[in-house]
Amino acid sequence: MTIAANYETIQGRIETACRRSGRSPQSVTLVGVTKKHPAQAITEALQTTPIRHFGENYVTEYVNKREQLGPTEAQWHFIGHLQRNKVRQLMAFPPLLIHSVDSPELAVQINRVSAEVSPDARQDILVELRIGDEDSPKTGIKPEDLPQLAQTLDDCRHLHWTGLMLIPPIGHHPEDSRPYFRQIRELLDTLNRQRTEKLSILSYGMSDDFEVAIEEGATHIRLGTCIFGPRQNA
Ligand SMILES: *Cc1c(COP(=O)(O)O)cnc(C)c1O
Repeated sequence: MTIAANYETIQGRIETACRRSGRSPQSVTLVGVTKKHPAQAITEALQTTPIRHFGENYVTEYVNKREQLGPTEAQWHFIGHLQRNKVRQLMAFPPLLIHSVDSPELAVQINRVSAEVSPDARQDILVELRIGDEDSPKTGIKPEDLPQLAQTLDDCRHLHWTGLMLIPPIGHHPEDSRPYFRQIRELLDTLNRQRTEKLSILSYGMSDDFEVAIEEGATHIRLGTCIFGPRQNA
């Protein structure tokens, strides 16, 4: 299957899920996840589909692709676990949105580098949560540690906190993700009741559970395999 054919199928499913939950398809941004796919896959998607948002997980791979592709219409999302010592390399090409801020130390480092590379801009970021037990990914911040991170973010003048991101524990069925998505959505509502600068982005839903994610309010779904096929050396 081509990327364009996969896109057509998936876009149909996105629209059906939106209709079912009374949402506009424009309220859901499809982020094409291209980790471990060559830059050529991004070029093909730009030429043959309306996908303009792309997500990458690894800093070196991201920077290499940005250099290789040069200026394009692509909007970039950094969705992978980010180490503090890679922030400077990442910010050589500031992404539209960093989805994976999960500690005060990381926030402070992004804030510092952002101030250096673009003094007049604020880097948009999401906080990645970690919920569930042993089966959950090892990245993200536990909800009980969020207040401290939130305080740090309020002091980071070069960051703009716009929402929450989640990778749920691995399930056997798309429905297994629903309670986790719902928990994140309720957390966003709780935070917004106390905030003047409202959070509006909910980043969850991958190839296996994006329809449930849309039903539970996702504004950004991160789709890799179902659009681009199996990853190389994945
Ligand atoms: C790889 C990845 C995705 C895409 O996963 P698929 O199951 O291939 O759709 C989404 N989000 C994150 C954070 C990822 O690492």
